[in-house]
Amino acid sequence: TKFASQVAVVLENARLFKETQTQAITDALTGVYNRRGLHQLGDFELRRARRINRPFCAMIFDIDHFKRINDHYGHKIGDQVLQKLAERCQKTSRTVDLISRHGGEEFVILLPETNLESASRVAERLRQSIMNESFPTDAGALRVTISVGVAETRETDTLHTLIERADVAMYKAKGAGRNRVVLDEIN
Ligand code: GH3
Ligand code: MG
Ligand code: MG
Repeated sequence: TKFASQVAVVLENARLFKETQTQAITDALTGVYNRRGLHQLGDFELRRARRINRPFCAMIFDIDHFKRINDHYGHKIGDQVLQKLAERCQKTSRTVDLISRHGGEEFVILLPETNLESASRVAERLRQSIMNESFPTDAGALRVTISVGVAETRETDTLHTLIERADVAMYKAKGAGRNRVVLDEIN
């Protein structure tokens, strides 16, 4: 009938709208949030944490010497490592954690209801899991390591400044020899 086909059009439009919205906040390669998605949802979570006076942490990590993977095995294999790594993050995280690919080979994970001490344990667990369990690719099982920075919110933080402090800590981890977790100090 005409009515049924009109309903079908409306439903299809709704589905497409939802799909477009999802794509806008999702990283196509890995399926985790992209930077925009992280900031949309993370801003909300950070405000909520502050309102109800709960701890909230951010961790950022970057793959060590990832250029070598691309140089040795090619970009396609590099992409596969990124996919598997995102999967590993999802497996080792709680459902409330917000995982995102923040840049090329940089990931940010937001941890609601988590103080710096717990977050450092989460980060250390992830670092060890990545170091110890290789990722299957078309070029065989590959290993990578990550450098991680962790920060907890302060009174005046925005999501941007929180991630920035985690980023500073991450660069300290790189400078200190990579494959390690560094905490934002002044907390
Ligand atoms: P380090 O972080 O330890 O200092 O060394 P690095 O070699 O990982 O650092 P750098 O930031 O200089 O290089 C990152 C590389 O990541 C550069 C680029 O080739 C690669 N990369 C970025 N985005 C992608 C991507 O989407 N796919 C693949 N395969 N490689 C990517
Ligand atoms: Mg990088
Ligand atoms: Mg890197």
